[in-house]
Amino acid sequence: MRLEPVPLGTTPALDDAAAAPPADLPGQRELRSQLDELGERFAQLQAALYAENRRAVLAVLQARDTGGKDGAIRHVFGLVNPMGIDITSFKAPTALELSHDYLWRVHKRVPPRGIIGVFNRSHYEDVLVVRVHDLVPPDTWRARYDQINAFERHLADNGVTIVKFCLHISREEQRRRLMDRLREPNKNWKFNAGDLEERERWDDYTAAYADAIRLTSTTWAPWYVVPADRKPVRDVLIAQVMVETLERMEPHYPGATVTAAELLKRLESETIADVGP
Ligand code: AMP
Ligand code: MG
Repeated sequence: MRLEPVPLGTTPALDDAAAAPPADLPGQRELRSQLDELGERFAQLQAALYAENRRAVLAVLQARDTGGKDGAIRHVFGLVNPMGIDITSFKAPTALELSHDYLWRVHKRVPPRGIIGVFNRSHYEDVLVVRVHDLVPPDTWRARYDQINAFERHLADNGVTIVKFCLHISREEQRRRLMDRLREPNKNWKFNAGDLEERERWDDYTAAYADAIRLTSTTWAPWYVVPADRKPVRDVLIAQVMVETLERMEPHYPGATVTAAELLKRLESETIADVGP
């Protein structure tokens, strides 16, 4: 069980079958121990990235309603030191945000050196919901794929490693999860009146996702389509990609400096009398 990035120019499979767990699905207990093990590696790599303080990682999470972005953030990014994680949830743009270009609010939230940024929704909404609901003319959203590639290229060239996840669920799984939100009082808050209307546009969203992924899965910012009907599978697959991405970056703790050695000698030879009042 392992994900490959979508090659640029390839239309990803986004049908119901693509949301099901892979054929070589491990058992429940094995999935749990895989996530534990990945979590340990993830935490070690994240600590080194933070200490190195030279490069950043940006994980973009996109999904339909109930696709599992919140759960993935908790279960995967919750495995590392929260101090090194910067999560941004992008909602419908405010009046101020709308008075700027669509990447303005996004660029401001790009993680600084040493940090793993997580986007819960992202600039991709500007070619997804915006396209499906005709919020801008077609020429405007069509021009955005190239703009997004150029933006992400700029970030990649400036020390931000980007990985993008499309958490893909089936129509039936979304129905189940929406019903859950309506049935369980503590989940009611997650249900939005608009969710059913969005669901009716299922095929429009599929087309918009397919185009976005096909046109922007670059070598510098690849897309992974995560089969997300089963939550533990989703979490293990995302954790694997994060660990492999960080392993390729080989973050290093900064070496001991000459000053550190000298200061250490001073502290070692210190007697209590030296630090008296
Ligand atoms: P939620 O993720 O359930 O909190 O919902 C956030 C909402 O904000 C979703 O309905 C998104 O479609 C919407 N949203 C996010 N970004 C944009 C955007 N750029 N334009 C319009 N709607 C957006
Ligand atoms: Mg929602």
